[in-house]
Amino acid sequence: MSQTAVAIPDVEIPPIPVAELAPWAGFVFLIAAIVLFFISADQGAVSIPSGNAIHEWVHDGRHLLGFPCH
Ligand SMILES: [Zn+2]
Repeated sequence: MSQTAVAIPDVEIPPIPVAELAPWAGFVFLIAAIVLFFISADQGAVSIPSGNAIHEWVHDGRHLLGFPCH
């Protein structure tokens, strides 16, 4: 039985300053809140565009996440 040494390279992960991360975190939160609104509430309790196209597009996601639908 032979053993071979495997060289593991030194990998240094650079730190990300919170001040640089905060605007992106806010942007992702905003997009997530908009998506959550359209999946959960739009054309249910409230409706921004008329019709039920958005409801039909997100209908399976609505059931998957447990939002009341029909
Ligand atoms: Zn449904």
